Amino acid sequence: MAKIGFLGLGEMGTPMARRLLRAGHELTVWNRSPEKTASLEKEGAAVAPSPGRAAAGADFVITMLATPDALEQVLFGTEGLAATLAPGQILIDMSTVGPDEVRSAAARLPKGTSLVDAPVRGSVPQATEGHLDIFVGATDPDYGRVRPILEVLGSVRHAGGPGSGASMKLVANLVLGAAIVTLGEALALGESLELQRNTVLDVLVDSPIGPIVKTKRANVESGRYAPSFKLRHAEKDLRLVTEAAAARGRDLKQAQANRAWLDEAAEHGAADLDFSAVVATIAKGERER
Ligand code: NAP
Repeated sequence: MAKIGFLGLGEMGTPMARRLLRAGHELTVWNRSPEKTASLEKEGAAVAPSPGRAAAGADFVITMLATPDALEQVLFGTEGLAATLAPGQILIDMSTVGPDEVRSAAARLPKGTSLVDAPVRGSVPQATEGHLDIFVGATDPDYGRVRPILEVLGSVRHAGGPGSGASMKLVANLVLGAAIVTLGEALALGESLELQRNTVLDVLVDSPIGPIVKTKRANVESGRYAPSFKLRHAEKDLRLVTEAAAARGRDLKQAQANRAWLDEAAEHGAADLDFSAVVATIAKGERER
């Protein structure tokens, strides 16, 4: 069993940390808003007062944070992780921050430490049940070391060398963004053609976007979008997708259009709702034009 520091106890980090604790690992947790550490502390985790202290004596340090800026602050801000990471320790970043941030951060860590990128596909239910898809960017020896830890959280895939896990996650989320916007536009078109929404949803279940129709149908039908994957994160992900592509000379027109819908939903107050709330923005937008 390993000694693990776990930083970032949001929607995803909390159930992931809990699984590691229940698997018997020795866990020290830290979160910017300290009240979120309480339930894990009751279950046996130690609580650190700063990111740097969460790394003390750990074999692995896992970060599950919102954005590239959040990762920067936790690594390089006051009492940050980078100041205390020691040779031999492995930092596993599981946030969605893109390969450019991963490689830039790795280059600034102390000599002898490694950064393994291991972002995830799947949401809160998969995190709770240990059924995430985990895309790992690592050297072969580092992959061998992190794999047993990550297997507690889901299925682990070695995407390639450092940064490749973060790259694969952008590919996956380009597709997710396209699927949810396609659902919104399909419903908007159906409504404007005076079709019954229920019947349209039944037909879409058997279409290429069937999986997302199944998981988000209850939200769409109830008009309630309690956050599982926050829209602000989906918007951030499509920003990372389009920026990474543009920096490499690729013009991803559909991803840009999907990003524009998520931006519009966020501007209309949906940033902290589930990302499927973009469906409501699209339906409303179509009616108002
Ligand atoms: P979340 O619920 O919004 O939690 C974000 C975490 O980041 C919280 O612990 C938050 O601390 C911390 N944080 C934000 N800004 C910070 C800062 N400046 N300094 C230090 N800590 C900061 O997000 P989540 O849903 O758990 O997602 C975490 C990551 O996984 C994101 O990159 C997301 O895109 C990705 N992801 C999410 C899902 C999903 O379904 N939710 C699925 C796959 C991947 P506070 O508690 O203090 O706010």
